[in-house]
Amino acid sequence: MPELPEVETVRRGLQPVLEGARIVRVEARRPDLRFPFPAKFAQRLTGKTITALGRRAKYLTMHLDGGPVLICHLGMSGSFRIETADDSETPGKFHHERSKDAKHDHVVFHLVSPAAIQSRVVFNDPRRFGFMLFAEGLADAHPMLAGLGIEPTGNALDGALLASLLKGRRSPLKAALLDQKLIAGLGNIYVSEALWRAGLSPMREAGTIAGAGKKAKEQSERLAEAIRSVIADAIAAGGSSLRDYVHTDGSLGYFQHSFAVYDREGEPCPTPGCRGHIERVVQSGRSTFYCRTCQR
Ligand SMILES: [Zn+2]
Repeated sequence: MPELPEVETVRRGLQPVLEGARIVRVEARRPDLRFPFPAKFAQRLTGKTITALGRRAKYLTMHLDGGPVLICHLGMSGSFRIETADDSETPGKFHHERSKDAKHDHVVFHLVSPAAIQSRVVFNDPRRFGFMLFAEGLADAHPMLAGLGIEPTGNALDGALLASLLKGRRSPLKAALLDQKLIAGLGNIYVSEALWRAGLSPMREAGTIAGAGKKAKEQSERLAEAIRSVIADAIAAGGSSLRDYVHTDGSLGYFQHSFAVYDREGEPCPTPGCRGHIERVVQSGRSTFYCRTCQR
């Protein structure tokens, strides 16, 4: 499943094509993806100008002049392909390769830019766990988005806020960090990476870094910084690869080469001076990668 940095990279790739463009025609080639398309889906989009393309957690929000907002989720295997007269590209680099098979092209947006350049933005999704829904008012008030926690990007997530979110929680630290009601868009890969950067065990009780003491304060600050930096680094990696990403074949993921612990079971821990090895344990049915020597 794409994680937040991939979705943000997709957003940045689509933004120059979508923002300001007018939707000339929409093809929905089947009645549903994960959910049925909303009533009058194509009809309500046709003729609208896209004013902004935003992101909340792993949802893309396409804002239309006069409303509604189109909320898009990539699901497990969804991607957007941009096609112009002489070029085609799929923004975002993913841990798993994206499909190019036209039989999985489910939605096609035919667009015209303010400079009268025509393009098509195609949503391809072999497994069809993606979806598109309308929000009639503010996107943040839509039931899909209303309960989401704080974004792990930007500076809002600091040690004090993280401590207040984790205070009193008895669940393992990793499980608490995956709770979308606390922090939105943080997934399995980057939680493992952030916990390694912060030197904290995924198994420790979440509330232990929310105490009043100096040590807990230092740990919550270290973890907040690790979460922000791991996400920012991943977005930067996606962004930089995007620049040389014209006419390529959508090669395998970009950032796993710089994962310190994720998918590295048995390898030496990359923490300087640490002689431990990366272990894989299963927590709540998901793989966790960590070093028991330097993560306490
Ligand atoms: Zn280690």
